[in-house]
Amino acid sequence: MSDLRDLYQQVILDHYKRPRNFRKLDEANRKAEGHNPLCGDEITVYLHLDGDVITDISFEGAGCAISKASASMMTAALKGRTRGEAETLFEMFHEMVTGHRDGTADPGGLGKLEVFCGVSEFPVRVKCASLAWHTLRAALEGRNDPVSTE
Ligand code: ZN
Repeated sequence: MSDLRDLYQQVILDHYKRPRNFRKLDEANRKAEGHNPLCGDEITVYLHLDGDVITDISFEGAGCAISKASASMMTAALKGRTRGEAETLFEMFHEMVTGHRDGTADPGGLGKLEVFCGVSEFPVRVKCASLAWHTLRAALEGRNDPVSTE
């Protein structure tokens, strides 16, 4: 499994160094801010929602490799998805990083987001990995208060 772990680390580093959808979205009709005081990660998630479909998504912010790579991969995974699909992915992602995934869950459902499975071994990093997702949920719900992982 160590080869797989190396590959996962490479993917995370690649997204950290060259984050996808890392910009302000001028046409956004939803946005939310998130903060992880434990690590110092800060993020703003921008969404363009057309009915129930996320037609565009981007983010800005500063943080550690895990938080930034997670946000980058989240935006790549969610473009063109519906709200319901985004909620389902968030639940699956959260179960994976907190180590609560049961063996019967669809192993292919998370796709590339599987690279974060190792995070469950590092409880401090779970908040880094899930910050973007909590912030996304706030944006979908139209909440205006900044999200904190504390
Ligand atoms: Zn972090």
